[in-house]
Amino acid sequence: MIEFKDVTKRFTTKDGDLTAVSDVNLNIDDGEIYGIVGYSGAGKSTLTRMLNGLETPTSGEIDINGDKITALSGTDLRKKRQKIGMIFQHFNLLWSRTVIQNIMFPLEVAGVSRKERQEKAQHLVDLVGLTGREHSYPSELSGGQKQRVGVARALANDPEILISDEATSALDPQTTDEVLDLLLEINKKLNLSIVLITHEMHAIRKICDHVAVMDDGRVVEQGTVFNVFRNPKEEITKRFVSEEV
Ligand code: ATP
Ligand code: MG
Repeated sequence: MIEFKDVTKRFTTKDGDLTAVSDVNLNIDDGEIYGIVGYSGAGKSTLTRMLNGLETPTSGEIDINGDKITALSGTDLRKKRQKIGMIFQHFNLLWSRTVIQNIMFPLEVAGVSRKERQEKAQHLVDLVGLTGREHSYPSELSGGQKQRVGVARALANDPEILISDEATSALDPQTTDEVLDLLLEINKKLNLSIVLITHEMHAIRKICDHVAVMDDGRVVEQGTVFNVFRNPKEEITKRFVSEEV
């Protein structure tokens, strides 16, 4: 279970204070896929950066399975962060390493033995459907295949959550669907909670259980995908629902 409790994040910029995330309360249950949707600048990435301990809230707290991530530091924070998998729009792969070396990298950082690294990475290669491409370099892969490597790498340390920040935004519609199918399959197989940040309503409708709509740092609407989409209350939600192709 992930809990955001009255989470606010302010940045001080040369133009003054800016509230990127404002009083957010969210509960994300174990094993669900939780969508967060909002226009550019709504605060989605800031929210996920706090969830994985890259940013500290100005006020409020975030609990992941009972651990207050917002109170951890040093080794404890590093250990917890290893249990949070992330995938990104631009994949963030190591370009001079092969598929299997990319997937082994977080295991290396975590101090896992060579033999175990090999076995685990091979298992993940198979899980994400890249069998036979172990020794390819990222530059030799399609966008969808690169994101499969990203997913496998994110799963290497058996994470408690997987965060996807616009991970399908650089992909064409068919490849997007393939990656979404993969995320759904992993969610079911591993009972892994996934936080899916997107501006694509289609992605939310396809795989999410719950959705939160963000506008100007606030969560303006949240609920089951079915309810929020059937009966959107806020103007911004209506706009998202009507823009969907
Ligand atoms: P996008 O869809 O474009 O990725 P987003 O919803 O992820 O947008 P954020 O990146 O969370 O939005 O940004 C929210 C607000 O906080 C923006 O106004 C942004 O400029 C500001 N912001 C984010 N990070 C910082 C920072 N490190 N310093 C100052 N302002 C920041
Ligand atoms: Mg963002």
